[in-house]
Amino acid sequence: MNEKTYTCPMDPDVIRDTPGNCPKCGMKLVPINAEHEGHENHASMEKDFRKRFFITLPFVLLIMLLSPNIQKWLHFNVNFPGIGLLLFVIGAFIFLFGGIPFFKAAKGELSQKNPGMMTLVAFAIAVGFTFSVAATFFFPEESLYWEISTLISVFLLGHWLEMRAVRGATGALAELTKLIPPSAHLIKNGDITDVKTNQLVIGNRVLVKPGEKIPIDGTIIDGESSVNESMVTGESRPINKKKNDKVIGGTINQDGSLTIEVAKTGADTAISQIMKLIREAQASKPNVQHLADRAAGVLFYIAIVAGTVSFITWVFILPHGVVFAATVAVAAIVVACPHALGLAIPTVTTITSTLGAKNGILIKDMKGLEIARKLNYVVFDKTGTLTKGEFGVTDIILSQKSSIKDQDEFLKLAAAVEVQSQHSIAQGIVNHARNRKLEIPDVKEFKSFPGKGATGKIGNKKIVVGNKALMEELKIRINENGWRRKSKASTPVFVAIDSKLAGVILLADIIREESKEAIKRLHDMGIKTAMLTGDTLDVASEVGKQLNLDTVFAQVLPEDKVNKVKQLQNEGNIVAMVGDGVNDAPSLTQSHVGIAIGAGTDVAVESADIVLMKNDPMDVVKAISLSRKTNTKMVQNLIWATGYNVFAIPTAAGVLYPSFDILLRPEWAALLMSASSIIVVFNALLLRRAKLN
Ligand code: ADP
Ligand code: MG
Repeated sequence: MNEKTYTCPMDPDVIRDTPGNCPKCGMKLVPINAEHEGHENHASMEKDFRKRFFITLPFVLLIMLLSPNIQKWLHFNVNFPGIGLLLFVIGAFIFLFGGIPFFKAAKGELSQKNPGMMTLVAFAIAVGFTFSVAATFFFPEESLYWEISTLISVFLLGHWLEMRAVRGATGALAELTKLIPPSAHLIKNGDITDVKTNQLVIGNRVLVKPGEKIPIDGTIIDGESSVNESMVTGESRPINKKKNDKVIGGTINQDGSLTIEVAKTGADTAISQIMKLIREAQASKPNVQHLADRAAGVLFYIAIVAGTVSFITWVFILPHGVVFAATVAVAAIVVACPHALGLAIPTVTTITSTLGAKNGILIKDMKGLEIARKLNYVVFDKTGTLTKGEFGVTDIILSQKSSIKDQDEFLKLAAAVEVQSQHSIAQGIVNHARNRKLEIPDVKEFKSFPGKGATGKIGNKKIVVGNKALMEELKIRINENGWRRKSKASTPVFVAIDSKLAGVILLADIIREESKEAIKRLHDMGIKTAMLTGDTLDVASEVGKQLNLDTVFAQVLPEDKVNKVKQLQNEGNIVAMVGDGVNDAPSLTQSHVGIAIGAGTDVAVESADIVLMKNDPMDVVKAISLSRKTNTKMVQNLIWATGYNVFAIPTAAGVLYPSFDILLRPEWAALLMSASSIIVVFNALLLRRAKLN
């Protein structure tokens, strides 16, 4: 995966891992990975700016030495015939060679009918240069060569440094690819050979030695070990793994030896999916980006107006000569370049998405994260989210009239139906039967009733397993007196044989330790909490009381969950829904911020805005904190990027000149503009060190 792959532009079926020509048509192969390509473009532009800066630098110094103004200030004098022509030649070289990147970029902006920052830069240096050429050949004025040259020099330097800083911000994605080890120990017919990781296919068996990285997503078929998954899930404690457990490529096997069977390859692996999500998140624009874009558009025109107005003013209204007026106009245009504004938001979102990923928080849509800071209601799914979703059987009560008198016989029948079901209650019942070493019979005509239970046929017995709602739906009478008083906090599952209640299985789930802390932290943040469950009111209120939840919705059918979210929204709340993503999809979509929790290896959860890798409600708190921190950074950057213009533009335009003799020369204006861009990038970079809790 960290290998680059190449394809033919004409025939996408041709894939090679080395560059070269297409074996079919002879065309030059191109890199497949767009991310990679973008990165390389960026890196080569950075190098280009550096090269042009250093090549022009000696000429800039030379031009300064030859300029009459500088000589006057430094009290020396160099003069010879043709010095004007020499200044023109050197100036033209700097203008052309140093200016090319800006002219190219300006052309790009103009061809998209979106004049912006580069157009302004190109315009400013073109105005300055044209004026100087005219001064050299047509009218007796002083030229602006050294001003324009230093301006270009500073622009090159500024862009070079800024691209370097931006590269630092985007580099985190490349770090992820480095997690995957390039080779793996393939087990074939008892022999072990080392192969490239990208040659593994599903079903291959791979040996992972202690201390090695797990090369690819798979299932353990032999061995036991603890695995450090922090790079993927953000969980810092090592996780104990045994046979049948899933492992993720890129995580580190610690003490034991593991044999794994490859379960996912290529784009399906967790790391690939995480990278895809990060890339999508970085491409998704938060709403504030539109604000920044609009502000940049306005600044563009302000720059043009400021330049024109100051030129006219200093020529006609307060006559100071054309040279002075042109210098001031160029400075005003340069300082107003909305460059920092263009960087203010994207640099923050890039860092946010990678910082999130490092903490096991994947942001799918920046707009979702943007709203998260305004949340005032968080709705949690109960089973598997606030509770562990690991149901244990606490009691089995046979009904007096039941045709079956033996608990094990009864449990076998229930387990036979539940084997087919995915529900965590079903797993609890099946595990209980297995622990008792019962043989589970085969079931026919299995049917699932989501949020209610399941039915099936064993021999010629018709078995129904489920909650009260299912019994009512199938017209099976239940007598609630026998078991009800025993334990309020456990979930009853009724089992009927041939439409007669045979008994009740009571199950209890365990509340996660982290849930209580998470709810408390949300309350501290001024956010209310609710729980949504299909379980009984008794169980739900018990959990609600223990966790101190504000609202409990119990016995909600899966299709009604979305209505409860709507209800809270209609009351004027900004609502987040936290669920395990599988059956909570509609409510995740309906809520303002959909948070899928416990994604683990199945990272691609379609309906969510935010995907949490771990099953830890505290990560909801972290996500909200990330949202708030991100927003603070964006606001700071926007204020800085626009705010400095309030002082800089008038100063550059010469407002302070008549009374205070203060003027911003073009090269200082360029320096200030570059500095403001770099400050914005570094301010965003500070977010990398933020602690999310
Ligand atoms: P939750 O909202 O807690 O995730 P569900 O909507 O999935 O719960 O299910 C609601 C209720 O339906 C469960 O508490 C249980 O009583 C019943 N139920 C659902 N599936 C099954 C099943 N396979 N076996 C027994 N009961 C089930
Ligand atoms: Mg659920």
